[in-house]
Amino acid sequence: MNKEVRNYQEIISQVEELKSSFLVRVIGEVHYDSQHLPLYRLVSEGQGGEAVLLSGGMHGDEPAGVYGVLKFLKEHASSYMNDFKFFAYPCVNPWGFTANTGSNHLGLNINRHFVFGSKVKEVESILDSLSEGPQTYLFTLDMHETPLEGEFADANKDEALPTEFYMWENCPDKERRVGDKMIASLEQRGIPVCKWESIYKDVNSGGVIYYPEGFFNQKEYGTGTTFEAFLQVNYTPQAFTTETIDNVSLEERVEQQIIVLRAALDAKKETLGF
Ligand SMILES: [Zn+2]
Repeated sequence: MNKEVRNYQEIISQVEELKSSFLVRVIGEVHYDSQHLPLYRLVSEGQGGEAVLLSGGMHGDEPAGVYGVLKFLKEHASSYMNDFKFFAYPCVNPWGFTANTGSNHLGLNINRHFVFGSKVKEVESILDSLSEGPQTYLFTLDMHETPLEGEFADANKDEALPTEFYMWENCPDKERRVGDKMIASLEQRGIPVCKWESIYKDVNSGGVIYYPEGFFNQKEYGTGTTFEAFLQVNYTPQAFTTETIDNVSLEERVEQQIIVLRAALDAKKETLGF
């Protein structure tokens, strides 16, 4: 059994604090031994605004997504609330978060189980909550990290792992795409971005892997079992997955996640003419 390396109580406390500005719902619970870990969805208060879905912590050893979503909601969301309505799942895999593992308590990579009717608890809870929310999101953004050591690195030891930020933009309509602007927002701040020609054998366009034309290797992205692909097929024309690298401090990675999210929101504001 993995020993607990992170305390979920800290996340529970942060979510509690956000109750003054967000509707907080427990959408499910992950049970393991004596632990009952709540799964949360937070929704910004108020009417109107384009729906945007944010998520983090799909893989428990990628904490910048969890803290990135929570910090964005706490410190930045209010300045966007006239134009956007946020639906946030800050920690999709709470057990993995406490144990610092990519997989959940059953050893599953949750991000390969996004299909209707899934019996994977974390997925089932999210899908139930999605059915009650908006049926179309302006965009979705799932915050990930690429841990250079551990489960993911071990499973991909034949692959070179990027050592700088990169992302996916799953958006068949090229006119809508804003990945280049998200990358530019990092580069303007001197934050390095992966410029390899390919990442995991997919085509890397200056830091962005674009769906569908850039995908060759990661077939599951195209078949809908990742959260990103599932959302793109069923709930949004534009789904992002961002990847920070754990060779810089957690604080810096959280900041990078927020910078690219804000760049996406600003770019959408421009094109929608708010
Ligand atoms: Zn991940």
